[in-house]
Amino acid sequence: MRSTPRIPDAIGRARGGWMERGALLYEGKAKQVFATSDPSLVIIHFKDDATAFNGVKKASIGGKGAINCALTTHLFDAVAAAGVSHHAVRRLNETDLLCRKVEIVGVEVVVRNVVAGSFAKRYGVAEGTPLATPLVELFVKSDALNDPLINDDAVVMLALARPWEIAWMKEAALEINRVLCDFWGGLNISMIDAKFEFGRLDGRLVLADELTADGARLWERGTGRKLDKDVFRRDLADLGETYRELYRRVFGS
Ligand code: C5P
Repeated sequence: MRSTPRIPDAIGRARGGWMERGALLYEGKAKQVFATSDPSLVIIHFKDDATAFNGVKKASIGGKGAINCALTTHLFDAVAAAGVSHHAVRRLNETDLLCRKVEIVGVEVVVRNVVAGSFAKRYGVAEGTPLATPLVELFVKSDALNDPLINDDAVVMLALARPWEIAWMKEAALEINRVLCDFWGGLNISMIDAKFEFGRLDGRLVLADELTADGARLWERGTGRKLDKDVFRRDLADLGETYRELYRRVFGS
């Protein structure tokens, strides 16, 4: 009988046998997903590619994949320690993460702590305005539609998620937001907002995708320096330099 590896508490420290990449199952803008010899497992490869505005702006940033794989591994460990399950099993090498195969929910969950980005634009509120409490927004995960904002009723109507799944994702997103705000706060960095994706696994939901500066806004406290993908979107600084700086702050080398 096939043995399925348990989901370890700490993926960064987990050990296990070699897993080879099988067929390419899916290619996204910053990641590839490969089959493995175990149908319940996939390998997620973090690419060096950076894209913005739904793929309109593109670049290849040497080392980005490894930095994002390391950050995701480290931050998944942090959220798992707080009791939120995720899809990762273990890191295989610099850029590849072995994960449980999940059915990705077609809704992106954004938590905002401070006004920025599309919220600022949509409602005419100045970037940097603090929000009284963290705010959750849902977006349709669709490149073709440009990820539009959606409300709970429409999510159910379109069968993107069930009511209990929406409630669960919102609560989990707020908990993950708490953990990540604490983590970044410890490094003198404010997490302004972040996007989370969830996957269905054996009748429950788990955190999926990635936790990186591609999907969060990270502002250095005091200076307001941006340490996230906005430097690429807005041509503020060199993304590779910025991500290497972030890596040094997290891992110390
Ligand atoms: O653009 P907007 O302000 O809605 O983005 C909110 C947060 O979600 C940001 O941290 C952004 O990086 C992230 N995001 C993402 N993928 C998208 C849209 C937004 O990671 N497709």
